[in-house]
Amino acid sequence: MKKNHLLVTVILSLSIVLLLSLWPAISSKAACNHSFAAATCTSSKKCTKCGFVAAPALGHNYAAATCTKAQTCRRCGKTSGKPLGHNFAAATCTTPEKCTRCGFVTKPALGHYFTAATCTTPEKCTRCGFVTKPALGHNYAAATCTEPQKCTRCSRTIGNPLGHDWTVVSPNVTRCNRCGATK
Ligand SMILES: [Zn+2]
Ligand SMILES: [Zn+2]
Ligand SMILES: [Zn+2]
Ligand SMILES: [Zn+2]
Ligand SMILES: [Zn+2]
Ligand SMILES: [Zn+2]
Repeated sequence: MKKNHLLVTVILSLSIVLLLSLWPAISSKAACNHSFAAATCTSSKKCTKCGFVAAPALGHNYAAATCTKAQTCRRCGKTSGKPLGHNFAAATCTTPEKCTRCGFVTKPALGHYFTAATCTTPEKCTRCGFVTKPALGHNYAAATCTEPQKCTRCSRTIGNPLGHDWTVVSPNVTRCNRCGATK
């Protein structure tokens, strides 16, 4: 009976020693003094000691792609996809070759390409039709005995020659009053 009592005492003592030696591990598991690492785009808010997750990863916060930059995360700078590339509109007389999205200019405006005015056509850009001076109009020289009214620039004629205005000056001489021609 006394021997039995001793055995119980020994087992009990051993149990207490074992429990005490394990206590720190048990207690730390039960109440971790969490030490959180902040959440990032790709990792959760998590205790560095016990692994407890308090919040999920944030996920990337992408800014839209531009002509020269791919979609880019505002937080971590990770890119996704490709830049859009410029969308050029051809240069005209008055506007440069330019990206319609971002305004990036690659070539200056062409400038007008004028052809000189004539009697019937204005000074005008052959590319876009912009007019700077009206047509000159014909510049007629008066009709003569032998020539009709005629434009000094383009030689267009209107009407008929006046014809000589003959006068018999002497039996042998007939002369034109206007131009002095004789016959
Ligand atoms: Zn923890
Ligand atoms: Zn990110
Ligand atoms: Zn662009
Ligand atoms: Zn033009
Ligand atoms: Zn003319
Ligand atoms: Zn004449």
